[in-house]
Amino acid sequence: MTRRSGLHVLTSVEVTVTNRCNMRCRHCAVGETLALKEPDRVPLSLLFDRLDEVSTLQTLSITGGEPSENLTTLAEYVLPILQYARRRGLRTQVNTNLTFELDRYRGIAPLVDVLHISWNYTGPADFHRIAWGHGREHVLPAASAKIYERIRTNAAALAAEGIFVSAESMVNAETAPHLGRLNRMIREMGCRRHEVHPMYPADWAADLPILDKAEFRRAVNRFLDERDPELWTLFGTFPFLPCSADPADQALLERVRRAPNISVRNCPDGRNRVNINAFTGDIFVTDFAEIPALGNIWTGQIGSAFDIWQTHAAFAPYNCYCPAAHCTGPNLLVAHMYHPGVDFRDRKAVG
Ligand code: SF4
Repeated sequence: MTRRSGLHVLTSVEVTVTNRCNMRCRHCAVGETLALKEPDRVPLSLLFDRLDEVSTLQTLSITGGEPSENLTTLAEYVLPILQYARRRGLRTQVNTNLTFELDRYRGIAPLVDVLHISWNYTGPADFHRIAWGHGREHVLPAASAKIYERIRTNAAALAAEGIFVSAESMVNAETAPHLGRLNRMIREMGCRRHEVHPMYPADWAADLPILDKAEFRRAVNRFLDERDPELWTLFGTFPFLPCSADPADQALLERVRRAPNISVRNCPDGRNRVNINAFTGDIFVTDFAEIPALGNIWTGQIGSAFDIWQTHAAFAPYNCYCPAAHCTGPNLLVAHMYHPGVDFRDRKAVG
C-alpha cells in the first residue's frame, strides 16, 4: 500500500519527543541518547507546518525515551501532537513502558490508536535483571517488582477499557526459549497484538549475544508451536525473506503463511517512514540507526529528506521490491546481521 508507481511513499512519521526514561533496559537500542536533562524542543507550530506538507501522511507515532515520564512533556508536547493527528485523521501509536500511574495513560488514550509496550520478561526476577541492567542496577528487587506489576495491571486496565494495547518481544539468546510463554502472558494482559522482532544489536544491545539464523529459525518454529493462535502475531524486520535459497527458510515462510492470525510486516524505515528528533529537528531513517540525519525541519521539508534516502548509497543494496511476494526488502540492521554483503537487487522472491 505504501509503494505506488514503483516508488516508496512517505505515509508515516515517528517523533522522538524525549530522551528521558525512568528505566535502563539492558537491550535498549536508543541507550546512549538517554539523558537526565533535556534542551528545548522545536516549536509545535514548526513541526505541524512540516507535517502539513506531507500530503501522503497516514500514521504518526510518538517514541522516546519514555513519552510519559514527564507530565509537562506529556501535556504540552505529546497531547498537542496527538490532537493534531486526530484533526488530520491520522492513525497514532505511542511507544510507552506503562510504568507510571494509570491516569497518565488515560489522559492520552482517547487520542491513541495503539499503545505499544515491550514485554521480554517471564517474571519479576527477569524484569529486575533486564530493566535496570544499564546504569540503575541499584534498584531494589521489591521496588522493581512493583513496577513490573504496574505494567501488567496498567496494560490490563487499559485493554479492558477498549484501548488497543500492543506488546513487543525481541528475539535474542535470552528470550528465544520463552517466546511462547511471553505470548501467553501478553494475551493474559488483554493485549491485542504481539509483535516479535529480532533484537537490534544497536547501542546498549550491541554487546548482547545474537542468535544465528538457524537458531533464530528454531526459536520462531518453537514460538509457533507454543503461541496462542487467537492473539494476532506480527513479525517485524523478519530476517527470513521470500528470496532465500535456503529450503528451511522457505518452509518457515510457508508455515507462517498458513498459520492463522499472523502478519509479516515490511520494514518501514526509510521506505514509508522517517523519524524526527523533537530537540534538534533532525530527520532520520530510524530513531537508532547510525545513518546521519537526512535533513532538518528547521531548514527543509520532511519529504525532501525522505527523497534523499531513496537514492542514498547506504540504502541501494536493500532497495529491492518483489510485488508477487509483497516484499519491499530487508531492514538495514537485520540485513547487516543476517545477510552481510548481499546486494538484494540481485535477488528475487522464490516461487
Ligand atoms: S523484495 Fe528484496 S528482500 Fe524481498 S524477496 Fe525480493 S529481493 Fe528478497
